[in-house]
Amino acid sequence: MRLVTFLARRYVAGDNWKDAAKAIAKMNAHGLYATCDMLGENVMKKHKAVQASKRYVHLLEQIDYRQLQANISVKLTQLGLDISMDFCKENLEKILKKARSLGNFVWIDMENSAYTDRTIEVYKSFIHKYGPQVGICIQSYLRRSEDDIKNLLSPRFCVRLVKGAYKERKELAFAKKSDTDENFKHLIDVVLQSEAKLLMVATHDEKILNYAKKRVKELKANRKRLEFGLLYGVKREVQRQLTKHGFRVRVYTPFGRKWIPYFFRRLRERRENFWFGFKSLFQR
Ligand SMILES: Cc1cc2nc3c(=O)[nH]c(=O)nc-3n(C[C@H](O)[C@H](O)[C@H](O)COP(=O)(O)OP(=O)(O)OC[C@H]3O[C@@H](n4cnc5c(N)ncnc54)[C@H](O)[C@@H]3O)c2cc1C
Repeated sequence: MRLVTFLARRYVAGDNWKDAAKAIAKMNAHGLYATCDMLGENVMKKHKAVQASKRYVHLLEQIDYRQLQANISVKLTQLGLDISMDFCKENLEKILKKARSLGNFVWIDMENSAYTDRTIEVYKSFIHKYGPQVGICIQSYLRRSEDDIKNLLSPRFCVRLVKGAYKERKELAFAKKSDTDENFKHLIDVVLQSEAKLLMVATHDEKILNYAKKRVKELKANRKRLEFGLLYGVKREVQRQLTKHGFRVRVYTPFGRKWIPYFFRRLRERRENFWFGFKSLFQR
């Protein structure tokens, strides 16, 4: 049995693109869109970062060839951010060029706070050239996020709001979950009331999902400016319900062999997930 099927199959679509493509085609058939994440992060060798960028270019070609409803999401440390910012930008630009030529879209994941400034700087350096085809993730647990959003707002701004998946110091991030949740709602308002092009509300928290639906209605915002994002393997019924109600839902779909850090972030999100992970070791 392959390693992913054995350990992380709940959260990872497979250890190769073929498995992920099958999973995405299945989701597409149910009206769900996907964002593909080729697992990997903190790449320290130049040739590995170049290889990752080539693989993402190939992935975009494959999505186009198979006519899948999917875009991609990249981690800048997979593209060499730890090596140098210019090198990372070179790698990212190859991906952005390909996405633009195919009419596709690239999300930039947000990693831990050591990378926030650099991630925003890289994103900013491309927003004019590739604006409508690149978006950035912003974490509501960070105290700085409202300022970051306000500094980035423009008609080209595409943002994926999440709570945040890393352990952060309380000087930087809200310690109480309720503060993170309140800030998430506040940031939804800030973005919906702005000229931003796209807001992806990426959470499984049904109170926040409902809040976003309510605010779009109240503010008479164009529904096309709103997408919902959920993770592969989490709350499938909610994914389908949102689609049924006419909302665009994108399922963040990771694949590949480097699944361990991703898998442990998912397990950490809820204590009972340890049970899911543990049980999945023994379930078929
Ligand atoms: C599309 C998408 C993209 C993301 N991109 C990033 C990123 O770039 N950077 C980043 O820091 N974080 C990212 N995240 C992760 C995010 O920051 C949260 O860690 C994660 O979504 C869990 O928080 P929640 O918003 O679902 O809320 P929570 O309050 O943690 O969860 C709400 C409810 O959802 C369910 N749930 C949540 N997580 C799980 C799980 N793992 N397994 C089973 N049930 C679960 C539970 O029922 C829980 O009660 C992303 C999340 C999504 C959905």
